[in-house]
Amino acid sequence: MVSNSSFIINEAQIQGILSKQRPISALETRDILAKALGFKGLDLFDVAALMTVTDKELLEEIFHAAAEVKKEIYGKRLVIFAPLYISNFCNNECLYCAFRAKNKELQRRALTQPEIAAEVKCLIEQGQKRILLVAGESYTGEGLQYVFDAIDTVYSVKSEHGEIRRVNVNVAPLTLEEFKKLKDAAIGTYQLFQETYHRDTYKEMHVAGKKADYDWRLTAIDRAMEAGIDDIGIGILFGLADPRFDVLALLQHIAHLNDKFGIGPHTISIPRLEPALGSSLASAPPYLVSDDEFCKIIAILRLAIPYTGIILSTRETSDFRRRAFSLGISQISAGSRTNPGGYGDVEKNSSVASQFSLGDHRLLDEVVRDVVEFGFMPSFCTACYRSGRTGEEFMALAKSGKIKNVCTPNALVSFQEYLQYYASPKTLEAGEKLIARELSSLPENQKQLVEKLLAKVRGGEGDVCV
Ligand code: SAM
Ligand code: SF4
Repeated sequence: MVSNSSFIINEAQIQGILSKQRPISALETRDILAKALGFKGLDLFDVAALMTVTDKELLEEIFHAAAEVKKEIYGKRLVIFAPLYISNFCNNECLYCAFRAKNKELQRRALTQPEIAAEVKCLIEQGQKRILLVAGESYTGEGLQYVFDAIDTVYSVKSEHGEIRRVNVNVAPLTLEEFKKLKDAAIGTYQLFQETYHRDTYKEMHVAGKKADYDWRLTAIDRAMEAGIDDIGIGILFGLADPRFDVLALLQHIAHLNDKFGIGPHTISIPRLEPALGSSLASAPPYLVSDDEFCKIIAILRLAIPYTGIILSTRETSDFRRRAFSLGISQISAGSRTNPGGYGDVEKNSSVASQFSLGDHRLLDEVVRDVVEFGFMPSFCTACYRSGRTGEEFMALAKSGKIKNVCTPNALVSFQEYLQYYASPKTLEAGEKLIARELSSLPENQKQLVEKLLAKVRGGEGDVCV
């Protein structure tokens, strides 16, 4: 077991950069943006410098550059998924979370396998194709087998026109042996947020349980990769510590993964602290990140790590999410419920069992229509994972900017599948117009290919992709 993870995060380097950083000029800002538009990313110094920008016009230039990078790497697609909370039992004491062990106000529930199947059926019937399985860190009685059984259950459910094709997992750090079993369970992404990379703040926020061990958590992604999981997601919970520190530390974590394993994370998640039942800290974050500051952070992350997916959840309001789409977000959750049983059993499962307050309560269909109206293309694609394009193969495509050559056709085709089986008439109309418009803008060879694939879907074939 690794007892210290200081080889991953160098706090002294970050503090040194931040303490020396002075506000930068317009010229310096534009130099960094020109570098970012080479699509090779930015280093810690560039990022610390961009974080100092407050001038409105320069911020607009940063936003514009981020949108360009997103368009170049991923095209217009926005991948959609839903979280599936299977249990809110937890042995840890994360002061910001409703699931923390000592929270007596929370109704506890661990779904049985038939209950998980019922939830999955609801999600499939909304049109979802990928889910993120989430649980507190306590798998009563059955141990981790509960999670493995849940993954099997999700993949086993079929409904008239669909099934869940990719299960990503967000559960507490595992041992190497346990990660090997998770790999065998055919998961998509293993996702784990460090919450904050700032060791002292981490200690203050995680006061009991296994999660109190900063090093065990920070080294978890190394163990996952050593176990053969080559598709991983990392993240920061904004609001706990100085965001400038956490952004630079996140980049150090990514650099470490690149050096050691030759690949970076597939995704990064950027939750902001939301009010949570039984947590006074969640309602008064120690480092409140305003909407404007958060937009700047999203755009800078997009410039710094162009090939990595950035995920925005329904913690954020619909208005903010619309604003963030164009700053470089590439994946969003939609129609989410954060209480176990929340999709099927709306009456019985009110907000008292939820992990945090949602900002965007809309149903999937409404979110999809909104995405279309904002000029982006909803994607239900799971092709890379299913055809084994993960790890180095995926990174090579993403880093070279070629991933959009598969993302765009697959987004169009998976969206067509969604439209014909699950969309409301209004969304169907808006979606078909978008598909026609996008088709007409494709180069001739790609257009012919996509038309063939669309014809297959219209003829009733499912899971069509390149
Ligand atoms: N229990 C596991 C863990 O902590 O890693 C996985 C599930 S946990 C429910 C998923 C994530 O929810 C956490 O990593 C944290 O970032 C986020 N979270 C917890 N409380 C939150 C809050 N009040 N607002 C926003 N996000 C929160
Ligand atoms: Fe438990 Fe995760 Fe919530 Fe912490 S964040 S209390 S580990 S569910």
